[in-house]
Amino acid sequence: MNKKNGRKILLLPGDGIGPEVVREVKKILDWFNDKKSLDFTFEEELIGGASIDINKIPITDEVFYKSLESDAVILGACGGPKWDKLEFSKKPERALLKLRKELKLFANLRPAICFKQLVDSSTLKPEIVSGLDIMIVRELTGGIYFGEPRGIEPIENNQRKGINTHSYTTNEIHRIARVAFDLAKKRKNKVTSCEKSNVMEAGVLWREEVQVIKDKEYKSIELDHMLADNCAMQLLRNPKQFDVILADNLFGDMLSDEAGMLTGSLGLLPSASLGAKDKNGRIRSLYEPVHGSAPDIAGKNIANPIATILSLSMALRYSLDLEKEADKLDEAVQKVLDDGLRTKDIISKGKKEVTTTDMGDAIISKLK
Ligand code: NAD
Repeated sequence: MNKKNGRKILLLPGDGIGPEVVREVKKILDWFNDKKSLDFTFEEELIGGASIDINKIPITDEVFYKSLESDAVILGACGGPKWDKLEFSKKPERALLKLRKELKLFANLRPAICFKQLVDSSTLKPEIVSGLDIMIVRELTGGIYFGEPRGIEPIENNQRKGINTHSYTTNEIHRIARVAFDLAKKRKNKVTSCEKSNVMEAGVLWREEVQVIKDKEYKSIELDHMLADNCAMQLLRNPKQFDVILADNLFGDMLSDEAGMLTGSLGLLPSASLGAKDKNGRIRSLYEPVHGSAPDIAGKNIANPIATILSLSMALRYSLDLEKEADKLDEAVQKVLDDGLRTKDIISKGKKEVTTTDMGDAIISKLK
């Protein structure tokens, strides 16, 4: 069997517009199977609210184990008003947190690319964002969102105290730094590492240990250290100075949202979350659009499927060893935008408005 054949992909469409945008991904996988004999096997399962409605829980053990055995998991979105009143531990979004935690997805990759065709959709001036191509690497399983002690406790005088702990170990810093440096090697060879070493000891450690990895293992990569608040400002002032931005969980959360918005629309932003290699050398991975389930437009066939399609392209590149096919898919998206086709969220004067289905079909026609 060809090395590139027989890959297992698990599709988890989820809620709201999730099934509509994942349907377009399925069409593309079918196309690759038919035309390029790639022989992906893909299965589709319930997650989030869709799973709660049938199974009473946001993800079943069966689906969870399937995700462990897959070469890549592609998710639509979880959640929506129908399940908003459930208690926190039973909400649809818990499924996603469980997947991230149990698959040990410690690296979140969020590209912020400003397509030249959509430069006017950004809130920044065209000359600032045109040609923008940044990759944000965010640590996803450590830091203040998970650190102990945490909680809310009563204190004297009827007051309460909220506590969260920001902590990182050397190993946690080293493994995420390597992800950033490896990506930079395939890009413009530059990493900007962000922390708050001016006010946080954990930030001092972060800075020192990222430098250790660069000096030992990645001598040819340019490394800058930048305070996270300055990075937030520089992203608005001169975003094109960056190539790969490396940040912890908290700062990465903020910086990746900010960078994403430079590009204009949520409907265009893909993401990848990668784990450590398992004993067979396979990297566990989850690919999803940055946007949520968009209940306000669900079921109308107007959602933009590009973020999810570009998430598939990241899966081809990072999990399935199909760099050429990923390039081909990225080019197909560009060509469709060149032709002036736009879903409602990115429509502008003189362009042609198309449905979710039309956009998927148009991208497939460019693959041909
Ligand atoms: P959202 O991203 O779903 O929507 C924000 C706005 O962007 C809406 O106006 C929506 O119509 C628009 N939008 C989003 N994706 C679009 C697309 N592909 N094409 C066109 N327009 C698009 O965020 P929200 O409204 O804050 O959240 C809705 C639900 O999604 C909530 O239940 C939330 O918890 C959930 N959510 C899930 C995820 C996830 O599964 N990863 C992420 C974020 C939010």
